[in-house]
Amino acid sequence: MVNDQIVAREIRDRRVIDAMLKIPRHIFVQEAFAAQAYSDKALPIGEKQTISQPYIVALMTEKLALTGTEKVLEIGTGSGYQTALLATLADRVYSAERIRPLALQARKCLDSLKLFNVQLRINDSEGSPIGWEEEAPFDAIIVTAGAPEVPSILIDQLAPGGRLVIPVGTGTDQQLITITKDENGELQQELSVFCRFVPLIGKQGWQS
Ligand code: SAM
Repeated sequence: MVNDQIVAREIRDRRVIDAMLKIPRHIFVQEAFAAQAYSDKALPIGEKQTISQPYIVALMTEKLALTGTEKVLEIGTGSGYQTALLATLADRVYSAERIRPLALQARKCLDSLKLFNVQLRINDSEGSPIGWEEEAPFDAIIVTAGAPEVPSILIDQLAPGGRLVIPVGTGTDQQLITITKDENGELQQELSVFCRFVPLIGKQGWQS
């Protein structure tokens, strides 16, 4: 998977490549899909949600430019696969998920890999704001669900010098956006690939 789908498609960050070689994807997928765990596909994880395509996971992670010292926020724990990579590449990870059974299953997988630098939060109450205000600011924020626009609440939770990666577009098709906040709080935006994520639900996201 890593050679054919990640390195061959110009993912160059050696730390990202090594983390993907280290974290087994099959433990994050349902048994029925285990044979497809290393194909370059998003797969169902239950609750109408998906584990993201490995190439997109690699690309989004590379865009965060993690060095190992960062405090990272992830919105959309899902299976916990992306979370496991972040936990391997950064100092601390805060990951929020709105579907309780997914968060509980992700916790089991992360514990089985002894990734204890991850805090999970279940945001399942109606109208709960996106993000994790009490723990802000974050050096990096990754959103693994598609948003109608970049939520200003997440820009507010980004530290100076930090990066936010998020798919933005319609409920079914989006484009990946990377926002960089400089030391003066000025924002720069870079557009990259088109992608297809499940919707980000909530205030500044889509209605459920
Ligand atoms: N990164 C995940 C993985 O590797 O398995 C993929 C996550 S899946 C594409 C998107 C997840 O975002 C879903 O599990 C969904 O429930 C969650 N989600 C959607 N809106 C959310 C919100 N406002 N807060 C937290 N999680 C949310």
